[in-house]
Amino acid sequence: MSDHDTSLRTPIVAVLGHVDHGKTSLLDKIRGSAVSEGEAGAITQHIGATAVPLETIADMAGDLVTVEDFDLPGLLFIDTPGHHSFSTLRSRGGALADLAILVVDVNDGFQPQTEEALDILQRTGTPFVVAANKADTTPGWNPNENAPIKPSYDAQSDTARQRLDENLYEIIGQLSDDGFSADLYWRVQNFQKNIGVVPCSALTGEGVPDILAVLMGLSQRFMKAEMEIDVAGPGEGTVLEVKDQQGFGATLDVVVYDGTINEGDQIVVGGVNDPIVTEIRALLQPQPNAEIRVENRFERVDAVAAAAGVKIAAPDLDEAMAGAPVRVVRDRDVDDVIAEVEAELAEIEVDTEEEG
Ligand code: GDP
Repeated sequence: MSDHDTSLRTPIVAVLGHVDHGKTSLLDKIRGSAVSEGEAGAITQHIGATAVPLETIADMAGDLVTVEDFDLPGLLFIDTPGHHSFSTLRSRGGALADLAILVVDVNDGFQPQTEEALDILQRTGTPFVVAANKADTTPGWNPNENAPIKPSYDAQSDTARQRLDENLYEIIGQLSDDGFSADLYWRVQNFQKNIGVVPCSALTGEGVPDILAVLMGLSQRFMKAEMEIDVAGPGEGTVLEVKDQQGFGATLDVVVYDGTINEGDQIVVGGVNDPIVTEIRALLQPQPNAEIRVENRFERVDAVAAAAGVKIAAPDLDEAMAGAPVRVVRDRDVDDVIAEVEAELAEIEVDTEEEG
């Protein structure tokens, strides 16, 4: 293992886009490729998230990502449970996701949920890359499994490339109409000013190395300061979902973005009525070799450090809310932590009202 500064946490990445444009397929492709390219056990499956370490990303991305160029430990991809909840997934008033992939079907172009997602990304100032997905469906396309996209794009017939280009420029034009200056990612010099568009295929894996490279580049250049956390501090997270779990009752699927959460910790969680104060009975993670998305195969862990997804079992969680904050109390006055959680909930409510 390399010698990363342990106080730099993994950036959290959300995958957004219109239904059927390929969000799930892209995430599955990243997971699948990480499993086949990485050393055994290199990726870890979390509740509601997948952690892909830098070394595995470098393996997947070939020449595009070199471990030595990065200080951040990798990427944590979250499964956002539907669109509306994404807008309420926040951390201390900002977006829960540090980065995003906006998936757009090259044939279908911008659709209502694409616009919605873009609107959220703009409002929260979240850096993102556009995955111009399903490039493999271009008539005459000659696929190159899991390869970087530029050489593959260059190697296509002129007609295939021109057909894809028409669709890509349509997407770039739509981004421009929405106020984003965008271009094919290999032409982008300044990723702070311009949005990179990566032609890709969640089916063949082409362009996936490039998406990972752009995300790593964005996080390295623009997120390092924000990723510095007090790993040993009291854990802070956001509820993705509230779920009934056999043997545990209502449980929380949480993404932890700061500090550490331990079994036995007292926590404050945003609730439908008042904040809930309770004590963690168990922290659960999927078993290492369990099939992705197979339920009920958890193992208990003693502690979870940011950034990570975890299931929290504790008494009295029935009225907890998706999107609400979770805070570990630790050495602080519980009333202060309750006040913090209340203040954050008030902010979320204002935002939801604005959205109408
Ligand atoms: P989501 O609703 O955005 O999560 O979309 P899915 O990942 O479920 O994909 C919708 C459909 O498009 C599925 O039938 C996928 O197999 C298909 N699909 C997704 N990505 C690609 C791609 O890159 N190429 C092709 N040919 N099909 C794709």
